[in-house]
Amino acid sequence: MPASLVSANRSKIVHSECMDQNLRSLITLSVCSWDTASLEIGCHATALTEARAHAGAAIIQTCQRIEAVGLEPCRRGCPGTREGEAAFRYLVRLAAGLESIVLGESEIVGQVRDAARTATPELGALLGRSIAVARAFRREHAFRADSGHLYDLAVSAAGQSPERVIVVGSGPTARCLVRRVRSGRVRSVVVASRGRPQWISDLGVPWLTLDELDRAKPANMAIVCLGGDAPELAAAMLPASLVVDVSTPRRTAGEVVTLRHLRDHAFAREAEYRERLLAQLDAQSDRAITDWSLDGTSPVGRLRKSAELVRREEVGRIARRHPDIDADTLEAITRRLLNRLLHAPSMRMRQLGPDDASLVADLFEHEPGRTRRWPE
Ligand SMILES: [Zn+2]
Repeated sequence: MPASLVSANRSKIVHSECMDQNLRSLITLSVCSWDTASLEIGCHATALTEARAHAGAAIIQTCQRIEAVGLEPCRRGCPGTREGEAAFRYLVRLAAGLESIVLGESEIVGQVRDAARTATPELGALLGRSIAVARAFRREHAFRADSGHLYDLAVSAAGQSPERVIVVGSGPTARCLVRRVRSGRVRSVVVASRGRPQWISDLGVPWLTLDELDRAKPANMAIVCLGGDAPELAAAMLPASLVVDVSTPRRTAGEVVTLRHLRDHAFAREAEYRERLLAQLDAQSDRAITDWSLDGTSPVGRLRKSAELVRREEVGRIARRHPDIDADTLEAITRRLLNRLLHAPSMRMRQLGPDDASLVADLFEHEPGRTRRWPE
C-alpha cells in the first residue's frame, strides 16, 4: 500500500493536490458538540442557536446531539470542542454510528452527508473523507441497525417484552419503530399522531389521533417520538403502564424512560464492545490521515513522510523483538504519538513561505537526496 501510494501520487498531480487540501483543512478543523439527548425544548433551542453562531460551520443535528463543524478554531468556550486530527477521528466515529445510542445505526450517515452538502467545498471534502472511512468500517462490520432498534433497547431496559405497544409519532423514527415492534412477538401495535402518516397504509397498522388515545386499549409500552413542534404530552394521559420518550427535545412531562436513560443502558451494556470498535476505527482514521499526509510534494508532506518512515522502521523492529506486544496497539500508539508531535509544527509550517517551509522539511530528511523505500 505505501509504495503504490507514493508512486500513484507522483503520477497524479491533481490527486496529490487534492490530498494536500484535505490535510490543510484538517489542521484547522474544529467540531463543537452539544449533548442534546432528552433536553427540554428551551435548552435545545439555546444549543441550536449557539451552534448556528459558528460562522461558516456545517451543522449536524441528530436525536442526541448538535455538532458545529468548521474550519476555524473556536474561541467561544463551547462545552465540547475537538480540533485537528481529534476532530476528524470524532467525525468518523459519528458517521460510523459508534457515538449513536443504537450502535451502528444507518440514519447518521445521511445526516453527516446532508451537512457535507451544505458546507464549503473544503469542509465538504473533509466531511466526505470522514464518511468514506466510516462507510468502509460499517461494511466491514455489517452494521444493519436503524432507529427502530431503540425499541430493543427499551425492552432490554424494561426487562420484559410488551404484548401491546403504542407508537406516538408520524416521522421516519416512528415508522422504523413500528416495523421493529412488528418484527418481535407483540399482540398489537397502534400508531397515534396529529396527522395520518402515509406509511400507515403501507404497514397496515391501526391509527388514532392524539385526542382519540384515551379510547385505545391499554398497552404495556408507549414509545413517544414526536418532533420539536408537537405539543407536550402528559405521560399520565397515555394509556400505557410504561412510557418511553425517545424525542429530542423531550415531548412528555411526568415519569418516563428517556432517550438519555436508553443511552446509559446501551453504553453500559456494550461498553467493552464499543471500546474495541472505537480503537479499531481510530486506527483506520489515523491511517487515512497518514495517507494524505504522505504527499511528498509539499514541505509538510516531506516532513511527515520522513517521520513516518522512521515510525514504520521502529514498529517493524519492535514487533520482531517483542512479538508478545499486540501489533494493533503498537500501531495505534506510535501513530497517535507521531500525529500529536507533528500537529503543531505542521500547522506552523503552513504559515511559512515555501522556501522557509522547505528548509524545515530538509532538517528532517535523514539522507537528503536519496530516495528511501518504504519498509516491508
Ligand atoms: Zn464552538
